[in-house]
Amino acid sequence: MIEVEDVSKHFGTFAALDRVSLRVNKGKLVALLGPSGSGKTTLLRILAGLEQPDSGRIRLDGVDATGLGTRDRRVGFVFQHYALFRHMSVAENIAFGLKVRKGPHRPSKAVITERVETLLDLVQLGGLAGRYPSQLSGGQRQRVALARALAVEPRLLLLDEPFGALDAQVRKDLRRWLRHLHDEMGLTGVFVTHDQEEALEVADEVVVMNKGRIEQIGSPSEIYDSPATPFVYRFLGNVNAVPCSVSGGSAVVGGLHVGGGTVDGGGVAFVRPHDVELLELSPDLPQATIRQVTVLGPLVRAELALSDGTVLEAEVTRDQRDRLNLRRGLEVSVFLRKARVFVGDVA
Ligand code: ADP
Ligand code: MG
Repeated sequence: MIEVEDVSKHFGTFAALDRVSLRVNKGKLVALLGPSGSGKTTLLRILAGLEQPDSGRIRLDGVDATGLGTRDRRVGFVFQHYALFRHMSVAENIAFGLKVRKGPHRPSKAVITERVETLLDLVQLGGLAGRYPSQLSGGQRQRVALARALAVEPRLLLLDEPFGALDAQVRKDLRRWLRHLHDEMGLTGVFVTHDQEEALEVADEVVVMNKGRIEQIGSPSEIYDSPATPFVYRFLGNVNAVPCSVSGGSAVVGGLHVGGGTVDGGGVAFVRPHDVELLELSPDLPQATIRQVTVLGPLVRAELALSDGTVLEAEVTRDQRDRLNLRRGLEVSVFLRKARVFVGDVA
């Protein structure tokens, strides 16, 4: 188990991490998700012992590790452009962390050879032990880097955008593979990404970061379905953000109820396009006019204008499009399955 307690880190006067607290349970794979500059790498480096926090503590398995160096933490890490040793073969690269161990901590040659073979199989590179990094594809190199990190049997695996530099397809394959590998080995892992799809697909838990702070921690579905802040709404996928005003507990825009709350005042309503339901015109429901219909692979995106001109985006299936005969100029009725208003100065 990893516990981050109230960790802050400044570079000069700039707060890269501002009182961050976080707990990662044993065996979980956690994603640090956020835009560039939000402090993800800084937090990972502090977990690795490559950087010291200004204040706060890091506990590993209940023991204070704040002052410990990287080696004493038993962590393995892989960075985005984590160069392999070019003059070493694949097998030598993987064995490196074991060979440099001192005295009684260094396994015998036979044990090292065996571990390297097991790891090569694990990362599906059996047969390539003798190759050099220049003779491998990008995806293969990243897998060697992972095997090298795993060789020292880390209790914590830290990955900083490990697949960031790869093609979309290779990246997809590798992240599925990482998920399987993680499940098989029962590792505890923290990986950094700015790619929401990657975080939602791979992680048990997602930590959304913004400007050195944690905006929300939760399972992928919690983060996606119940964003805690406007930032999380915006950062995780497509969302309609509609300026509105809550009065008497309810906010109405163009005749459409867009949410409410206990606090009255101006704010912004957030609605996911797939929560905008389009129906045949009915006198009992608010109306809208279809302005544009675009096919996006399996889904159809419709842009609609409410009676006051407010524009919303809806995402419907092709079936729904056909049933309603959705087209530009069509009048429809609208129903929001889910919407949430944040009152106040919503950036
Ligand atoms: P992320 O990984 O989320 O993109 P980082 O943790 O790398 O963000 O950086 C967070 C902020 O801290 C950035 O604004 C970055 O410029 C700054 N920063 C990171 N490392 C240093 C450093 N060694 N010296 C000065 N500023 C730094
Ligand atoms: Mg980074």
